[in-house]
Amino acid sequence: MSIKITGYETHDVRFPTSLTGDGTDAMNTDCDYSSAYVTLLTSSDLVGHGMTFTIGRGNDIVCAAIKELAKRLVGKDVEEIFANMGKTWDYLSADSQLRWIGPEKGVIHIALGAVDNALWDMYARSRQKPVWKLVVDMTPEELVNATAFRYITDALTREEALAMLKAKESTKAEREARVRELGYPAYVTSAGWLGYSDEKVARLTREAVHAGFNHFKMKVGADRDSDLRRGRVIRSIIDDPQYLPQGQPPRDPNGPDLVGKNAGPTGSVLMIDANQVWDVPQAIEYVKSLAELKPWFIEEPTAPDDILGHAAVRKALRPYGIGVATGEHAHNRMVFKQLLQAEAIDVCQIDSCRLAGVSEVLSVLLMAAKFGVPVCPHAGGVGLCEYVIHLSLIDYIAISGTMERNVLEFVDHLHEHFLYPCSINKNGRYNVPSDPAEGYSIEMRKESIAEFEWPHGSYWAGAAQKTQ
Ligand SMILES: [Mg+2]
Repeated sequence: MSIKITGYETHDVRFPTSLTGDGTDAMNTDCDYSSAYVTLLTSSDLVGHGMTFTIGRGNDIVCAAIKELAKRLVGKDVEEIFANMGKTWDYLSADSQLRWIGPEKGVIHIALGAVDNALWDMYARSRQKPVWKLVVDMTPEELVNATAFRYITDALTREEALAMLKAKESTKAEREARVRELGYPAYVTSAGWLGYSDEKVARLTREAVHAGFNHFKMKVGADRDSDLRRGRVIRSIIDDPQYLPQGQPPRDPNGPDLVGKNAGPTGSVLMIDANQVWDVPQAIEYVKSLAELKPWFIEEPTAPDDILGHAAVRKALRPYGIGVATGEHAHNRMVFKQLLQAEAIDVCQIDSCRLAGVSEVLSVLLMAAKFGVPVCPHAGGVGLCEYVIHLSLIDYIAISGTMERNVLEFVDHLHEHFLYPCSINKNGRYNVPSDPAEGYSIEMRKESIAEFEWPHGSYWAGAAQKTQ
């Protein structure tokens, strides 16, 4: 009997992270990490969970947009949906009235991210595989059919994508076995939020080194002296062999995984992130003044839509050996296409739910592989780490075929709210999600939703009472 989508539920879930300074950077000073969460229901037990990420106010607006999109799926046969996820994505993004309030950007697009991801979660559950495994087991033709291809064929044709995937097909099993054994490389951001004291930064950095990490990111852009001071604190710890985990020799700073990253003597790499605060000339001047910290890249030096601005920053910083990374606010595949075509980035930072779900992410993974730019997804927030490990596994196993130069962001916040939280092994690398029931690993605990649903969940109702 055919299974049909019968309805949906949305939840506006907000965590009070602004109270601790978690997630603070030069642009985002009071984040309450939030999830615009959706569950798609069917005529059977099969369900699909998805979400997109916001930082608080406006999460209700995203939930309203999710409802408008999810409505369009009610009555549809799930096998017809799964048979061609690229076509399904085109259908979801093509409602002419909803399209007007994008197109393919802003609230309506991140809402589509939640809905498309929920469909992928449902598809993976129906096949008893995690999402990454579902995708890497596809034939090249199936994977290309699952990709959002509209508007990118000037950079990458279907035929080129097919040829790339076919070239990697016979070695997928080797890479899958390798990453299951080693884990996927990761880096930490949680030590370097702007809202933390120097002591807290130092303690968290020591803990991260001890946990096996060798890539670290620091927020910059609010105050140059403070950036230099905190950067020196971090460098003094990550470059000092005494803090390395017991028995671990320093890594070779010129090894194949570190070359070109400004790695220090122990093989540690520092990245800096400005979260869009500067104009282009200001970005160039400011980052030059931080050159002694030897960052691998400056992330989001200017407005996320400014492709030529990023290209100008990259060109100006090249003599200093500092690269440019961006993508967490790049709102669709066309922006990534242009960043790649304009040679504006050294590192491509896709976001799992600012792009409109797995189908659109696949198009960017394919383009980045063609242009030879490593993909290091944006994570942190809430739920993003759970999502992105799947995307990096797809990239490594089926698409780019490389992982040693890549690093996947890891922030140790809020994982306890998920039924299948991501995890890090003793070498500071992501473990491979392996439960056949976990889908896209994004199912939130019912008790977490009950506590943090805005504004009537038990936490927020209690907080309101306290302030009365
Ligand atoms: Mg960032």
